[in-house]
Amino acid sequence: TVITRFAPSPTGFLHIGGARTALFNWLYARHHGGRMLLRIEDTDRERSTQAAVDAIIEGLNWLGLEADEPPVSQVERAGRHREVAEEMVRNGNAYYCYASQQELEEMREKAKAEKRPPRYDGRWRDRDASEAPADIKPVIRLRAPLEGETLVRDQVQGDVRFPNKDLDDLVLLRSDGTPTYMLAVVVDDHDMGVTHVIRGDDHLTNAGRQTLIYNAMGWDVPVMAHIPLIHGADGAKLSKRHGALGVEAYRELGYLPDALKNYLARLGWSHGNDEIMSIEDMIRWFDIVDVNKGAARFDFAKLEAVNGHWIRDSEDSVLTDMLIGEKDFLPNGDILKQKDESTTRRLLLQAMPGLKERAKTLVELADSTSYLFASRPLELQEKAAEILNGDGRAFIAGVLPGLQAVSEWKVAELEAAVRDYAESNGLKLGKVAQPLRAALTGRSTSPGVFDVLEVLGRDESLGRLSDQSA
Ligand code: GLU
Repeated sequence: TVITRFAPSPTGFLHIGGARTALFNWLYARHHGGRMLLRIEDTDRERSTQAAVDAIIEGLNWLGLEADEPPVSQVERAGRHREVAEEMVRNGNAYYCYASQQELEEMREKAKAEKRPPRYDGRWRDRDASEAPADIKPVIRLRAPLEGETLVRDQVQGDVRFPNKDLDDLVLLRSDGTPTYMLAVVVDDHDMGVTHVIRGDDHLTNAGRQTLIYNAMGWDVPVMAHIPLIHGADGAKLSKRHGALGVEAYRELGYLPDALKNYLARLGWSHGNDEIMSIEDMIRWFDIVDVNKGAARFDFAKLEAVNGHWIRDSEDSVLTDMLIGEKDFLPNGDILKQKDESTTRRLLLQAMPGLKERAKTLVELADSTSYLFASRPLELQEKAAEILNGDGRAFIAGVLPGLQAVSEWKVAELEAAVRDYAESNGLKLGKVAQPLRAALTGRSTSPGVFDVLEVLGRDESLGRLSDQSA
């Protein structure tokens, strides 16, 4: 079975690039009927926080990308990492190195003077531990091959070759007994049974070094796929300004988790010209070899368009639940609290067909519901006030008796009453509808005015209209 993993370092929130890496791992596992695991790479004790772990897990849950097993903490596996390093020494694939800080510094200086990358010179490769200075705690280094090359057969980048002379005897275990990142990742991926490593291409050179460790242990190297990082719309590395925000920020901006997944899946991967894809489509179609090599560009306008599409296509009841769930989105919180939830739900459900056509985010959608929960007399937006202060109030006063006489407060009858008034006074329908909208919603744009009348109900509608007919 296919086993993938997402391995974030908990030094901050789940950012958008990490979310896409998690998505690709999740899609690949689902496509193959496998599992995705989660490993928290918390070995950097100074920068790792529990708050970040929580934020990452919450972000994944919100996106619907839960791992299939409880998360593994890397730091808790330090004993096992050390065991493997010592086993490698026993097998002759690693050795104790007693070089002092000063010696290492000299090697760095020398490399600098000779204008070549710093490199450990292998001075303890073949020396006997009996020569070891007593005052130095050793590190364990990999006995890396000196000749030939190491090949990484990457599913996205193609075959990548690393001359072994460039890969020096890297440290596996520090002198304090803690593992290096390079060792920990390999041991964990092996022990967790990971078959496919899908991660950002900033880890591509690590893949060469990690391959050496797999080979030294005689373990199978997982299939590697290094996906390009996300860049801003201008091609530069992604910054806050470009959308390098935490996933929770996208939630607060009113993006739907499925829309965000849809958009992220399309960043660097495509299936024909399909822009809008259901989760099932993505799972069916996703393949890691189809991911582009070139950097993907993050485009906020496109994300908004995809989100608007998902909002239009969502069930009214689903959107209503989302708005009620994300209480902070809804305007007029105080008034809402006075209404019981079933009233709020009924009003939202009734109004939703008209509202969801226009909103690109849940924040916009929530904002457009404000007329439902406004209290009399309504606060008028500037444009609405202008309409009413023109000849608007006179038209409202004129149409009011006709509306009061409506027997059944339904769209068809309401429309008939307003048309009747407009026609008998030689007015275009819009001339009357505009001020009605302004008086009923306080705004100059809204869903169809007859829908608004029906949703608000007879008493509230007539009350709002009388407020403005004077
Ligand atoms: N912890 C690493 C990171 O956050 C990922 C390591 C890996 O995927 O192998 O970038």
